[in-house]
Parts: sequence; structure tokens; C-alpha cells
Amino acid sequence: MGTYYYLCCKTCRISLNLGKKLAKEGGRLVVQGVYSDKERAWLNDKRAWDIIQAFFQQHEGHDLLFVNDDDFSQIQLYDYVEGDDFWDGVT
Ligand SMILES: [Zn+2]
Repeated sequence: MGTYYYLCCKTCRISLNLGKKLAKEGGRLVVQGVYSDKERAWLNDKRAWDIIQAFFQQHEGHDLLFVNDDDFSQIQLYDYVEGDDFWDGVT
């Protein structure tokens, strides 16, 4: 289990799973990235940034939240978008 973090749009009730927080060198916390079903892996390179930017552009001017599923249980009611959905649009 564990706590998962999401970028979500409250206006559209859509969420993008960013995975768990991981400790990097120096104790810096990062999220896993954006999950790709095609790659069966968390993307945390430029592709993840492209997907996040696509999300921002689709939801410009909306109420965006960065939340975790422990503190924000309504996340269960949000539609889940796959990183791949955005990636197809990007390429
Ligand atoms: Zn939106």
C-alpha cells in the first residue's frame, strides 16, 4: 500500500497518479512520476514533464490540486487519466 500522490483537476474531477514519494539523495523527496501502461513503468524523464504540461494546458484556469489519497479521500470519485492518454496526444 502506501500513500499515493495525485495531480488533479477539481473542476473536471480528473486525476493523474504521480505515485509515491521517494527519498532521493540528500533526503530530497520526489514523486515516482507518471505511470505508463505501455512501458509498464513510472516515467520520470522528459516524457513525464511533457505529460504534466499537457495536463496543465488541458486544465488551464481550472482548480488544480496536488493531494494524496490519505488526506483527500474524494480522489476515489475522480476519473483516472493514464499518462499514455496524454502521451498519445503529445507525439
Ligand atoms: Zn479541468
